[in-house]
Amino acid sequence: MIEVSNLIINVNEKSNIPLFGLDFIGILDRGTNLLEVKPITLCNLRCKYCFVHAGDYINNFILKEKYIISWLKYALKYKSTKDIEIHIAPYGEFFLYDEYLRLIRDLKKIPQVKVISIQTNGTLLDKKKIMDLEKVGLTRLNISFNSLDQSIAQYLSDDPNYSVEKMLNIFEMVLKSSIDLLIAPIWFFGVNDNEIIKIIQLAKEYQRKGHSGDKFRLGIQNYLIYKTGRKLRKIRQRDFGYFYKRLADLEKKYNLKLKLGPKDFNIHPAHPITPPVERDEKIKVQIVSKGRTAKEWIGRFNEKWAVKVLSKISLKVGATVHANVIKRKTDENLITAWI
Ligand code: SF4
Repeated sequence: MIEVSNLIINVNEKSNIPLFGLDFIGILDRGTNLLEVKPITLCNLRCKYCFVHAGDYINNFILKEKYIISWLKYALKYKSTKDIEIHIAPYGEFFLYDEYLRLIRDLKKIPQVKVISIQTNGTLLDKKKIMDLEKVGLTRLNISFNSLDQSIAQYLSDDPNYSVEKMLNIFEMVLKSSIDLLIAPIWFFGVNDNEIIKIIQLAKEYQRKGHSGDKFRLGIQNYLIYKTGRKLRKIRQRDFGYFYKRLADLEKKYNLKLKLGPKDFNIHPAHPITPPVERDEKIKVQIVSKGRTAKEWIGRFNEKWAVKVLSKISLKVGATVHANVIKRKTDENLITAWI
């Protein structure tokens, strides 16, 4: 049975929700040696550009740590490679997850796992947490950070308490620890152009202080607009040709590597975990939970697969339904179907 309290759905051994198949929770594989883990959908911010609409869900999900580890061990059986990176990248904020330290500690015990990285907005970090993360052997923190200007940062994060000064202190603490740091700003063309330049200058300063190579990297991202996300008003997405041209110009001007790709993180193809369905196939699924919104449900297919079921009509947990597969990519272990 699924435990539901205060609109939080706890996902554990008893919940009947497999951890393959969904984009918003569980384990996401894109056919490489990197597995993404998504343990929570809660977030402490409500960024105006959030591509997953975090903070607006009717139901939120928290996965039991032991359940994640048992599924990860199962996922790793598909992967013959011994240089696995676990990238914890929730549709939310990882440091709201109570079991965050236990998860890193248990991941560290798996011999195949060589790198553990976390995607975070960084605002909940402090000295103690960084020291704890260092002790359990975290490899890298990827911290989103879009502006050195306080008012722009507060505008983008939609948080009047967002503090640039606090974030700069956090960067310093991470740089002094054994944890690698990747600062990941999004370039919203026309909004934070000057801020991107200032962040590059900050990166150069860190380099001058001796932080380079894996220890410190800057990973500027292009702002992409998703149908399912929040959008910044009056800002349009720039194509990747334009984005990479701008990065190339800045690389030359500042003599700093800005274009990062899979090779920079030792990511390579590895046996994919492939959904056992085809696009447009009609499949029989058992509804095992509500989803995040009124039109989303979680189905179970073939014991080991969760299916995101989209339906305009209300479905009953426990019911068996026939759904049409509308999304199934060969390079992602995701299944979306609709009724
Ligand atoms: S962009 Fe990240 S930090 Fe901001 S609301 Fe979305 S999940 Fe939270």
